[in-house]
Amino acid sequence: MAKFVYDFTEGNKDLKDLLGGKGANLAEMTNLGLPVPPGFTITAEACRHYLAHGSPPEGLADEVDRHLAALERAMGKRLGHPDDPLLVSVRSGAKFSMPGMMETVLNVGLNDESVRGLAAQSGDERFAWDSYRRLIQMFGKTVLGIDGDLFEDAVEDVKEARGTKDDADLLAEDYRELVGRFKGIVRDRAGREFPADPREQMDLAVAAVFDSWNAPRAILYRRQERIPVDLGTAVNICSMVFGNLGADSGTGVAFTRDPATGQQGVYGDYLQNAQGEDVVAGIRNTVPLTELERIDRDSYDRLLEIMETLENHYRDMCDIEFTIERGKLWMLQTRVGKRTAGAAFRIACQLLDQGLIDVDEATRRVTGGQLAQLMFPRFATGEEVGDVTRLTKGMNASPGAAVGKAVFTSERAVELAGRGEDVILVRRETNPDDLAGMVAAKGVLTSRGGKTSHAAVVARGMGKTCVCGAEELDVDVKAGRFTAPGGVTVGEGEVISIDGSSGEVYLGEVPVEDSPVVRYFEGGLTAAGGGELVEAVDRIMAHADARAALKVRANADNPEDSARARRFGAAGIGLCRTEHMFLGDRRRLVEKLILAEDDAGRRAALDALEPLQRQDFEGIFEAMDGLPVTIRLIDPPLHEFLPDITELSVRVALAGDGADPQDRRLLDAVNRLHEQNPMLGLRGVRLGLAIPGLFSMQVRAIAEAAASRRRVGGDPRPEIMIPLVGAVQELEAVREEARAILDEVRDATGVDVPALIGTMIELPRAALTAGQIAEAAEFFSFGTNDLTQTTWGFSRDDVEAAFFSRYLELGIFGVSPFETLDRDGVGRLVRIAAEEGRRARPGIKLGICGEHGGDPDSVHFCHEVGLDYVSCSPFRIPVARLEAGRAAI
Ligand code: PEP
Ligand code: MG
Repeated sequence: MAKFVYDFTEGNKDLKDLLGGKGANLAEMTNLGLPVPPGFTITAEACRHYLAHGSPPEGLADEVDRHLAALERAMGKRLGHPDDPLLVSVRSGAKFSMPGMMETVLNVGLNDESVRGLAAQSGDERFAWDSYRRLIQMFGKTVLGIDGDLFEDAVEDVKEARGTKDDADLLAEDYRELVGRFKGIVRDRAGREFPADPREQMDLAVAAVFDSWNAPRAILYRRQERIPVDLGTAVNICSMVFGNLGADSGTGVAFTRDPATGQQGVYGDYLQNAQGEDVVAGIRNTVPLTELERIDRDSYDRLLEIMETLENHYRDMCDIEFTIERGKLWMLQTRVGKRTAGAAFRIACQLLDQGLIDVDEATRRVTGGQLAQLMFPRFATGEEVGDVTRLTKGMNASPGAAVGKAVFTSERAVELAGRGEDVILVRRETNPDDLAGMVAAKGVLTSRGGKTSHAAVVARGMGKTCVCGAEELDVDVKAGRFTAPGGVTVGEGEVISIDGSSGEVYLGEVPVEDSPVVRYFEGGLTAAGGGELVEAVDRIMAHADARAALKVRANADNPEDSARARRFGAAGIGLCRTEHMFLGDRRRLVEKLILAEDDAGRRAALDALEPLQRQDFEGIFEAMDGLPVTIRLIDPPLHEFLPDITELSVRVALAGDGADPQDRRLLDAVNRLHEQNPMLGLRGVRLGLAIPGLFSMQVRAIAEAAASRRRVGGDPRPEIMIPLVGAVQELEAVREEARAILDEVRDATGVDVPALIGTMIELPRAALTAGQIAEAAEFFSFGTNDLTQTTWGFSRDDVEAAFFSRYLELGIFGVSPFETLDRDGVGRLVRIAAEEGRRARPGIKLGICGEHGGDPDSVHFCHEVGLDYVSCSPFRIPVARLEAGRAAI
């Protein structure tokens, strides 16, 4: 029979699938002999069963009984016993950390009797009644779904009656009164009494945690972080320890290194005489962890010792939550800590230098997504800052440079961003309800809370710029404005700039500049001259390149992009889209070609185009000298080169009999070529076969450009690629013509430049008949944009805006298949084609040039299938190189 409950002594850190991150790490710490309050974990499997069937799995209740009885024995107390109650926390904990997204209920086990037992045992009546009211409040909100403001309003009332604004001034009797009021709120709003039975409290809290997996904010967070929808959450039942038992108690969070920079030292926040989520919620201002040394030297020393143990054990930066109860330190949580992209690279190299990890592991510890973040522009410094006013400096919680209009609510952030505006979400502090606004905003600014506040943790996880704890700002959310020192008031809609790397906040738009990592890739900065971060990037990239099996090429169609791609480490060009060379002024020439009524007209149009094409190719061959350059023959629907059908029809109709004959001819052509479904129409190889001479002109331009490069000592390596092939016969027809032209140019110039001729695989039929096609193709390049479009039957131009958000919500896919390659469907076709292609032509060169070529997960897929290269836009090349290396490790 399945086992649904694990004591903390039974689990370990590798059981995250089952016990969630929190449960697995509590078990690991327990086994390391660290001071963890005893408890047990209900598995995510039980949650999945509950969510699928609406009820807990059979046997769960019995197992919980047994583990609870063991816990009671270990603690020498009974859950909710009137004389000396055991109290427990009920906490969510999924495999992947989802900070604050799911529910927690503390102090479970209190009722009208046991509250007196707690008062007697602790000798602190005020504490006991405060704990009891916290339970009803949390239980009411999370388990019974009551609006949390009702409880907060009651607290405000009682404070007002006491004549204070501070919780600390409330007395035991005030909390007793609050318990009465809170029970009334529960009765009114939930239509039931607050359950006095401790076990019922626990069971209902467990079910509420299960349910919170599907809370809207949790769903949104998962989509953002690409966490699978069907994992479910484990539930941790842990005996309570109290940080709110007076000045010798407290609660805090800590990092074993600075999560923003990777610097070693003591980083964290501490809150004296406080419980549970007070620190993370950023409700009260914390003191730096270093202060704990002064407050409680013994606990501080012990904590530092434990932090070192954890870092050495996990061989990584950890974050932890702890509580001190009357001078005794307890560990409530640890996990490998979230960090900024820069810190990830630095920490990986620091751990490597400390000998804790090897270079393979260091490379595994960073991601292409993090590297991409480091390549974002940042604020210009010094003189160039421009006409802006510096408002204040907060904490540099999550790096980056963000500029946008100030907005004060999550709703407004979503609304304005929806209209395409850049916004900065400004709040006193954020809570999980602000998630949608944080996603929509370019950056987040808060006036309260430390580097471990909700805003900081969530923003870091998302790679979003965040400045938090800017205490000099007085944020008035209701009035929609904030006031900075000196009385400067900033209202909604005014542009502000926030620097997540320094914490600076400006009124106005600060200009941005290239990041040092980009300057390093561009060759403008040496590794040694770029500081610790650039050096770390350089070391890891060198190792990734050495390990990678996949080469990385560029999608580029002009000499400038080609040169940049080469500086970024491209091993050639994987896709030169020649239709991009026919835009601008050259459009007229293509129009002439389409409208030509006889061979002579067509010939003249082609003759005019050819020298232009030749120049383009020469420039690209020069930029990519010695490296392969895959030139894809023209592939747009023809009508893209003709005037807009509606505009032209109106012009001709309005002119009536006096219409320009040229316009009439044009309109006839536009009508003739108009397609209902241009993506499935006259494109690619079909166009080449329909307009005689078009492909030949391009092939001739390629061959002549290569010959002239060779004549001046260059080393051009052309590869000619035929698009949208569905049948080998199409390819054969074009190939024959192309070979003849290559021979002709060779004979005419006396220069022999070998050129490969291959095809794109971007239609299901091409993939399924790849064995036949490979007979005529010297290489395949998977055009996964079209292959995704035609496999799913999704129009690539329309569907993402039309209904993808609904599909993502429904979990039909976790990410758009146009962004990350759909392994099961499109990926299967790629596998089939690669296998059959290789069987028919051993050693056939295989690559991919759809947008997926720069997507980390898709790069790993290409490695698994054994492709030779991926091709992506120049800016993505470093990301693809890193992921190609990581895939091979
Ligand atoms: C593709 O279809 O994946 C491709 C690279 O070609 P294009 O995007 O130009 O259609
Ligand atoms: Mg295509």
